[in-house]
Amino acid sequence: MQKDIDLRVSPKQAADMNIIKQLYSKQAGIPFGDIHSVRIIRRSIDARQRNILVNLRVRGYMSEEQADAEYLPINYPDVSNAPQTVIVGAGPAGLFAALRLIELGIKPIVVERGKNVRDRKKDTAMISRNHSVDPESNYCFGEGGAGAYSDGKLYTRSKKRGNVEKILHVFCQHGADTSILVDAHPHIGTDKLPAIIERMREQIIASGGEVHFETRMDRLIIDNNEVKGIETNTGRRFDGKVILATGHSARDVYYMLHDQQVKIEAKGLAVGFRIEHPAHLIDTIQYHSPEGRGKYLPAAEYNFVVQAGERGVYSFCMCPGGIIVPAASGPEQLVVNGMSPSNRGSKWSNSGVVVEIHPEDFPEYAQYNELALLKFQEDLERQAWVESGKTQVAPAQRMYDFVNNKKSNSLPETSYAAGVISSAMHEWMPPFVSKRLQEGFRKVGQNMKGYLTNDALLIGVESRTSSPVRIVRDRETLEHPEIKGLYPCGEGAGYAGGIVSAAMDGERCAEAVAGMGKE
Ligand SMILES: Cc1cc2nc3c(=O)[nH]c(=O)nc-3n(C[C@H](O)[C@H](O)[C@H](O)COP(=O)(O)OP(=O)(O)OC[C@H]3O[C@@H](n4cnc5c(N)ncnc54)[C@H](O)[C@@H]3O)c2cc1C
Repeated sequence: MQKDIDLRVSPKQAADMNIIKQLYSKQAGIPFGDIHSVRIIRRSIDARQRNILVNLRVRGYMSEEQADAEYLPINYPDVSNAPQTVIVGAGPAGLFAALRLIELGIKPIVVERGKNVRDRKKDTAMISRNHSVDPESNYCFGEGGAGAYSDGKLYTRSKKRGNVEKILHVFCQHGADTSILVDAHPHIGTDKLPAIIERMREQIIASGGEVHFETRMDRLIIDNNEVKGIETNTGRRFDGKVILATGHSARDVYYMLHDQQVKIEAKGLAVGFRIEHPAHLIDTIQYHSPEGRGKYLPAAEYNFVVQAGERGVYSFCMCPGGIIVPAASGPEQLVVNGMSPSNRGSKWSNSGVVVEIHPEDFPEYAQYNELALLKFQEDLERQAWVESGKTQVAPAQRMYDFVNNKKSNSLPETSYAAGVISSAMHEWMPPFVSKRLQEGFRKVGQNMKGYLTNDALLIGVESRTSSPVRIVRDRETLEHPEIKGLYPCGEGAGYAGGIVSAAMDGERCAEAVAGMGKE
């Protein structure tokens, strides 16, 4: 017999499996000695009240034989002699598309412009050290895609778009800690992700698939409105249907599609800043205690959405106990993002804070038609780079000063390794954005006492929240409606936002290639 029960316990009790077993025994009415073992299968923190509680779903096993596997491994077949499909991009969308193709008996040929995940790390370090951004190897480009050096948050709201559980199980099969199957807000951590990504690549190759690094797709081969393959910068051509999973930072891909007259559309996005507070301050606010998180709680999270000027101002990709990183993917750009290690142990907690924008908000860009917000995004990032003195030193302003239109006289210590420079960001950020952010911050400050403070630092700019362009596709077949054999996929195509939703979209595109769902 195995039985699941729900427990509400203190953080200290939640950290002790022997106590959990005792509480389980009491609540289930099963003598302690009759229980072989217990396993937590769901865990969430309830921090709404002063008395913080942890909700647990606990599974008890009465004998050793009953213990079920923590995750369901997939048996990947050999596809070395199977028909092939080309996948452009080895981000979460591309990697999960490749693994799903293998499951379905198709050979994936993965083409990735950047380096493998280990070599790439040296190039990301150089951004902070030398202020030089390698346009082929950076925080956005390379094996693992934009998510490789991230928080590895695996929480998604787009649960209807695919099987979230399956994605988490695949991560576990490739080495992720099984706590991601348990926690309500699972995360892997930037220190653990690279090894998991490497194992996925090894699995693709062991199954007969191919992975080509430092190979950039420069052109689609289109014949009679059908994709036949791709041309690359190495001179090699790869034939087959194409899953295009190039992420939202590959602007050259949007320009290429535009040149090749492949239909794309403008779409809205959100821009703003990264905001960094001392982690202890966020802990004291969220856990309602001057002691902060104490010994048994993790660095606190928060998220908010408020309306300002009839637009949503919201927090995005919060990294408790994390750091801010330079996420530019080319020259003359300054972009920031956040990540955190698995222990979420840094002195700071950061989050993107952004305002929604639509193409019609900036009529001066209307001339660029479907590329309107792409051009806006480019200009904003270039402006930030100019403000930084044409380096990766980021423009920054204390939060309260920004809200009060005041340039900061001094800046607090920050996790952003490339350095910060005081900048009157309220003056050069487009007023459409800065006014709404100011109003949004005032509102959030009223709800979260202590959040609106000059101890918090705004660092600019957070501009890569989603794709400014949508590559259109048919809702049913997921194929481009005008170009057969082309499957726009993941965040860059405008159909995902985040690691898990990109991974799910990768799986869906693989299934579409395999003809699943069609008669
Ligand atoms: C620092 C940082 C932290 C983040 N933290 C999180 C997080 O904690 N949780 C979360 O859910 N999301 C996070 N994100 C967002 C997440 O990484 C993306 O949503 C996700 O990676 C999108 O997946 P994708 O596969 O669609 O695209 P991408 O991950 O962008 O991958 C696209 C790949 O295509 C390659 N490529 C582009 N053009 C070409 C070409 N012409 N030829 C060949 N290859 C090409 C790129 O090099 C890249 O590897 C973070 C992003 C960053 C930058």
